[in-house]
Formats: sequence, C-alpha cells, structure tokens
Amino acid sequence: MRRSSVPRNTRRKNDGNSGFVGNRSPAHAGRALAAGREPACAVRACRADAEFLSELGEILACADVAAAQAGAECLADGDCCKFDLTGQRLFASTGELAMVTEQAPPHPEACLALRCPYQEGALCTARDRRPLGCRTFFCERAWKGAPGTVGAAAPPREWSGELYERLHAKIRDLHRRRGLPYAYAELTASLAELLGFQR
Ligand code: SF4
Repeated sequence: MRRSSVPRNTRRKNDGNSGFVGNRSPAHAGRALAAGREPACAVRACRADAEFLSELGEILACADVAAAQAGAECLADGDCCKFDLTGQRLFASTGELAMVTEQAPPHPEACLALRCPYQEGALCTARDRRPLGCRTFFCERAWKGAPGTVGAAAPPREWSGELYERLHAKIRDLHRRRGLPYAYAELTASLAELLGFQR
C-alpha cells in the first residue's frame, strides 16, 4: 500500500556508496567542483548542451524506475538533506550540477551550513532535477514504512551503491562522449562556489 500522505515533490536516500558518504570521499571525487577549470564555465558548458541534458535526464530517470521497482518510497521527512546533522556528504558531477542549478535555489545561504539550498521545509524544490545521489539514497524508513503503509523489505545493503555506481559510470561516460568537462565534488561546496560564496 502506498502512503497517500507523502507529498509528491520530495524524495529520498540510504547509505553505503549511493553518492552519499560519511567521513570519506569517493575514490573519483575531485577536491573542488572542477579542479583546474573555472567551475561556472564547466557547468555552463553542460547546461548549454541540450542533448547532454536530455540524455542525463534519461539516466537519472532510470534511478527513479529502479527505486520504484525495488519498493523504495521516500517518506518526505527531509532529514537526509540536512548534511550537517547526518554527517553524510552528497557528491555530484558537473552535469548534475548544471541540471540542478537550472533554477536558482530558494535558500542559497543554506549551503554555507552544509544544507541543500533547494530544500524548502522538508521538501525538495528541485525534485525533477535532483542529482543521482538524491535518487538512490533511501533511509530505513523508506523501505519499511509505518505499519500498514509502504511495507517493502529493504534490499541488500549493496543495492543503492550498485545502482549508483552503474548509473554514475553512464553519467561520466556521457560527459566524455559529449566532450564536456567532468568533475565530481561535494554538493554544498560546489553550489556555494557557483553561487559566489566563500567558505
Ligand atoms: S536536490 Fe537537495 S533538497 Fe533535493 S533531494 Fe537532493 S539534497 Fe535534497
């Protein structure tokens, strides 16, 4: 049974290597959004390539389909976007940053406090443009739900990580095929940089 009280424009994540990490960085993470390149230029280049964005959207949609098929359903409490509280960090590629920043965030200053500036209350205002990590990470409650609600059993712990790595590889290859700059860095730091903040 699906929970009708769950707001539609929200979402969410789990653990392991689903684009979220604890106190370590993914092996392929950059130290900055686009080391050696001007970040805003790299993001603009991705955003200007309509074919790239279209294909990226298709890859990201695969994550939503896979999550639905696995039985995951975000309960929209918004806790996992508060990285200052969870201790986790969300990483995203240049192209994903280009997509999520197609619209300005409602709370740009939030990224200075390790929170996503696209979060409004408990909800995601970038639902259709959110990065891969946002689509592959689900907390325990998303699998088990309240009694009589979602009811899906959690898949093996590796599920999120495997899905993430498979789709992230496609995203990385997409940058290569389109000749676009690829970097992979922590979301709030990247957004702060793009928004012109210093921290
Ligand atoms: S884009 Fe931000 S608010 Fe939306 S799901 Fe991802 S981390 Fe949360």
